[in-house]
This record gives sequence, C-alpha cells and structure tokens, in this order.
Amino acid sequence: MPSPFPVPDLQLSPIVAGLWRLTSWKLDVQARVRWIEQALELGITSFDHADIYGDYEEEATFGAALKAAPALRRRMQLVTKCGIRLRSAKRPYPINYYDTTPAYVRAQVERSLQCLHADQLDLVLIHRPDYLMDAEELADTFATLTREGKVRHWGVSNHSASQFALLHRHVPLLTNQLELSPLHLDALDDGTLDQAQQLGLRPMIWSPLGGGRLFTGTDEQAVRVRACMEAIAARLRISLATLAFAWVLRHPSRPCPVTGSGRIEGLREAVAALEVRLSNEDWYAIWTASQGHPVP
Ligand code: NAP
Repeated sequence: MPSPFPVPDLQLSPIVAGLWRLTSWKLDVQARVRWIEQALELGITSFDHADIYGDYEEEATFGAALKAAPALRRRMQLVTKCGIRLRSAKRPYPINYYDTTPAYVRAQVERSLQCLHADQLDLVLIHRPDYLMDAEELADTFATLTREGKVRHWGVSNHSASQFALLHRHVPLLTNQLELSPLHLDALDDGTLDQAQQLGLRPMIWSPLGGGRLFTGTDEQAVRVRACMEAIAARLRISLATLAFAWVLRHPSRPCPVTGSGRIEGLREAVAALEVRLSNEDWYAIWTASQGHPVP
C-alpha cells in the first residue's frame, strides 16, 4: 500500500505563536480575533496549541475566535499536541500519565478538531515521550487519521534523539518541539538539535524566554544572564526579548521559536529577531553567562 503520509512539506512561519497562556489573557472573542489578525499581519501564521492547555479549555477559546471569523483558518497552520493525561477537576485521573494508545490519540485529535472548529489539523505532536508507546501501532493510528484527512503532518515534542528515531522509522515526523533558551541549554548537548540538523527537520523551540524568568528571575543564573544580555542588547539597540529570540535563531538547525506573549508588542519583538544575526562572540558570551564558566 502506498504511504498515506504526504511529503513533509509543511512550512511553519519562522516565528510561531504559542497559545499555552491564552486563557489567562482574558480577551473577549473580538479581541481574540484581532490578536490573531495582528499576529498574521506580522507574518506569524503558525499557532501552537495542546489539548491540555488552559485546563483543557485553550483550544475551544481559540476556536471560538475561528468560529467568529472563519476566513482566518485558511491563512494559518494549526499545530496541536496530545498524549498527556493531565489530572484536573474535569479529568479526575488518579495520577498524571502519558497515553499514546490508538483510542486516546484518536479521541484527542477529534476533540481538537471540534474545539478549534477545523476540518483538518496541519501538525499534531505527541507532547511527551510515552515509555509505553508502541511505535508501530502509533504509526498505524497516524496513518489512519491522515487517510481520513484529519491530520496532515505528525511530530513529537520533548523526545530524545533515540525516541524520535524510533517513531521516525515508521512515520515521517516533521519536527521535535524542544525547550531552548539562554536559561536552558540542554538541547545543545543532548543530541536532539544535532539530529534535527542531520535530518534537515527544523525544530520548534518552546519557552525561548525561559517562561519569563529571563526578565524576572532572581536566581543566580537568571541575574547573570540578564546582566550579560542587557549589555549586548544595549550595544545592538534591540530589546532583551529580541536578543533572546536572536540567540535561539542563531542555531544552525534553523529553529522556529514559539512565542508565549499575549502582547502584540511581545510578538513584534520576536519577529524583529529575524533581522538580527548574532556574532559567534556574542552568542558564546550568553552561553558563558548561562553556564557560569567559560568554554573548556
Ligand atoms: P516564553 O516566551 O519563554 O515566556 C512567555 C512569558 O514571558 C509570558 O508570560 C510573557 O508575558 C513573559 N514575557 C515576555 N516578554 C516579557 C517582558 N519583556 N517582560 C516580562 N515578561 C515577559 O514562552 P512560554 O509561554 O513559556 O512558551 C511558549 C510556547 O511554547 C507556549 O505558548 C506553548 O505553545 C509552547 N510550550 C510547549 C511546551 C512543550 O512541552 N512542548 C512546554 C511549554 C510551552 P506577556 O504575555 O506579558 O508578554
């Protein structure tokens, strides 16, 4: 049987808007529509969701805006995630756990479609590595959902290089969404970004501002990194946020950072980073401040 998976040709925008915090922004439907329009005007056409965000309410909150302004859907790529069973009042599981069984993945994909008022999801990621994942069985589930036209492309998030390879053997995965920021360097050394480069698959990057810790953190690392970055940002005449995005974008795996800001100015600061190419010296100065010691 021919592969049901299309050639992995999805183009995400170079900056992706993340909606994890959407329900805390307290925007009414019209303000949400306007927020999406302004993001699109900035060239941000990819929107990152997850079934569990906002206590399982974020997708429906975003979807209400798409229902009010359906023409927006054609101008964007919808990315979402599933696979975490997160305990909440709405879902009183005894514990949090991961679930990539066919029935659960299908149920969550169908729920995402319904909440987002969409006929198709452009990209669905397995949110975290499920130690009990049966790669072949999961690939079959992906294939069926793709044949049904419900999901175009597949990927993963927070997977190690070997966990990525295990599933990629069965399904052409599009991306691994990873944490990377001047405050969180693991992906530089754990092989995930090397693998992305080797395969030519652009990683998506979450919490590029350390979830806001870059601005407000009082721990030693945050204070050190902020002082270093403020000096560089002043010299380059850019904001601290723009510098953090430029630092992520400088990696040769050509990452697509995912924003977390509810402010349009926050999105603008991210997009401004596309015009900045950091010198190796500045990039390593930030790395050094983060590590607290020079390169060996
Ligand atoms: P982030 O960009 O690291 O942090 C965003 C936070 O920083 C917001 O609270 C924002 O507040 C604040 N911030 C931005 N600029 C600021 C400034 N100048 N001063 C003070 N605070 C500032 O991103 P994130 O929200 O942690 O993550 C981004 C996206 O990644 C999420 O929306 C989600 O889509 C995705 N994500 C994925 C995973 C995963 O496991 N795959 C995990 C976490 C997140 P304002 O709104 O006020 O700007």
